[in-house]
Amino acid sequence: MRIQLLGTAAAEGWPAVFCGCRTCNRARAAKGKNIRTRQSAQIDDVIKIDLPPDTHYHQFHFGIRLSELKHLFITHSHDDHFAVAELHYIRPPFAYNQSSVPIKIYGNPTVIKAVDSIKTREELPIETITLRPFDPVRADHLKFTPIPARHKPDEQCFTYVAQSDTSAVLFAWDTGLYDKQSMEYLLGYRFDVIIIECTQGTLQMPSRMHMGFEGVLEIRDTLAKSGGCDSHTRVVLTHFSHNIGLLHDEFAEIAEREGVEVAWDGMIIDT
Ligand SMILES: [Zn+2]
Ligand SMILES: [Zn+2]
Ligand SMILES: [Zn+2]
Repeated sequence: MRIQLLGTAAAEGWPAVFCGCRTCNRARAAKGKNIRTRQSAQIDDVIKIDLPPDTHYHQFHFGIRLSELKHLFITHSHDDHFAVAELHYIRPPFAYNQSSVPIKIYGNPTVIKAVDSIKTREELPIETITLRPFDPVRADHLKFTPIPARHKPDEQCFTYVAQSDTSAVLFAWDTGLYDKQSMEYLLGYRFDVIIIECTQGTLQMPSRMHMGFEGVLEIRDTLAKSGGCDSHTRVVLTHFSHNIGLLHDEFAEIAEREGVEVAWDGMIIDT
């Protein structure tokens, strides 16, 4: 599996759209890994997780051909992950020479209802698949299992486990600490890579919606006790808010002490 993280910021982006805070200004000056767009991941050539408003920029900046997209998994309906209006451009006269239509879009009932609405209205080449918790689906060469997040009380948000014949990867944004059922389910895997949100960085701000560094370490250590991860497992942090106050290299230095990596836009992970 080749994973590329296309965006690694929380909803407002970083530098945040309308923000003049010190951290955003430091990021503007430092550029490089400190410029973060909204969260998404490309997996091999044909699978993508989330459709952020920065998708237009992602496809040309990272050289991704979304004309080859076959499977699009959506985590939840927050608009930093699900810019549904972009689907308008998925058919002629806006898109030609797509190698695999209809494109399959997977998500919870809220997401699928929104996709079905635009699909019907505009006759889009899309097939929708409503996911059920813990019920895996096959997407090309990978098996995807939706794991309920703890994020939005009025919606069943999903994180995903993607498995190839040789590896297992957890994609875990947006979620606070998992509830008991999800956590117990995750104990049944042995992960090669865990890509997990750290929206709150090292801030001591408890949240049911999002994770901070302590929460990430708690999940990692719980998994480690069951053999779900070990010293070979890469733990990669993503989905950062400017409120954390730490630029990439500053947080990377702190994370490294725990053997954890801090993602950046464009980071490639092979497993
Ligand atoms: Zn988000
Ligand atoms: Zn800011
Ligand atoms: Zn969200």
